[in-house]
Amino acid sequence: MRVVSGIQPTGKPHLGNYLGAIVNYVKLQDEAQAAGGECFIFLADLHAISQPHDPAELTQNTREMVATLVACGVDPSKTILFNQAQVPAHAEMQWLLNGTARMGWLNRMTQWKDKAGKNREGQSVALFTYPVLQAADVLLYQATHVPVGEDQKQHLELARDIAQKFNTDFCPPNEDGSDAPLFTLPEPYIPPAAARIMSLRDGTSKMSKSDPSEMSRISLTDDADTVMKKVKKAKTDPEPLPSEEAGLEGRAEAKNLVGIYSALTGQSVGQVLAEHGGQGFGAFKPALGEVLVETLRPINERFMELKDDLEALDAILARGAAQAREHGLPTLDATYKALGLVRG
Ligand code: ATP
Ligand code: MG
Repeated sequence: MRVVSGIQPTGKPHLGNYLGAIVNYVKLQDEAQAAGGECFIFLADLHAISQPHDPAELTQNTREMVATLVACGVDPSKTILFNQAQVPAHAEMQWLLNGTARMGWLNRMTQWKDKAGKNREGQSVALFTYPVLQAADVLLYQATHVPVGEDQKQHLELARDIAQKFNTDFCPPNEDGSDAPLFTLPEPYIPPAAARIMSLRDGTSKMSKSDPSEMSRISLTDDADTVMKKVKKAKTDPEPLPSEEAGLEGRAEAKNLVGIYSALTGQSVGQVLAEHGGQGFGAFKPALGEVLVETLRPINERFMELKDDLEALDAILARGAAQAREHGLPTLDATYKALGLVRG
């Protein structure tokens, strides 16, 4: 079992990152260990430069992201935790796979369409080729399980397509006729609930670090007052909560808040509505706020202890990077070789 996933240090991680991805990093690091496998979690700093950014902020966000992940339970003694920039094999592998990825495949990526908007010509080349780097990230380590939110499912499918085409084009069968694929096809590991937490300002767009409005998301490092304020101001409709799940259809904001409550408490949506159905948001929002504050309290406390020890945070990344470089080497070498590239 090889678990591989990444998160961009593009800002403060939020509730969507937590419920969609980070809780599964923590769960899978233990499962991988129990199965004698490995778990790799990386900060996707090479992805982060695909959009305009401030270098000093990127440096700070990178360290804060390490502190937040550790505060959430990612344990550097169980997980190989590192940043891409210290493992050149990610960038090398992307270039090697650029020969296999097709323009048409990338053109169909909804994240590219969403992030580029109407101004495609003005976007960086990196934003367009982003999914090839993502394929490189997971194929380099022969990932079997990739814990991600729903929004990354399409990129994972692309990684599988790239792996499959490379295996077909460059990996001749063994002498006995059996297949000799170089790349393992990675499987997405997407939580059944909470795979897509929506913005607090607009129930039709996902909660994102890159949303310009702070009020659109709950950051994992928000204090209790901020959390309560954001929940209180969250967009809703004027109707009370329904008592059955079907009543949430067509009510994107209500559905999102109930979904968050359900994910945080472990109750099903049906149970949440059985308890809170008939309540207006004036009553439900404070209840949700409380649950959020209780979830974030230990994360906040741990984050505050960790965040200023830059030496310790950098040491975690350096140690993880050394391990990652070693693990990635055999596949990188085999990829160069399969392509017929001559190296010393
Ligand atoms: P950005 O806006 O810079 O792209 P992001 O909030 O989308 O930031 P990423 O670093 O791109 O965060 O994604 C990290 C992980 O969090 C991915 O596995 C992604 O699928 C997951 N994720 C991101 N947003 C959500 C969300 N709203 N709900 C559930 N999972 C999410
Ligand atoms: Mg994203």
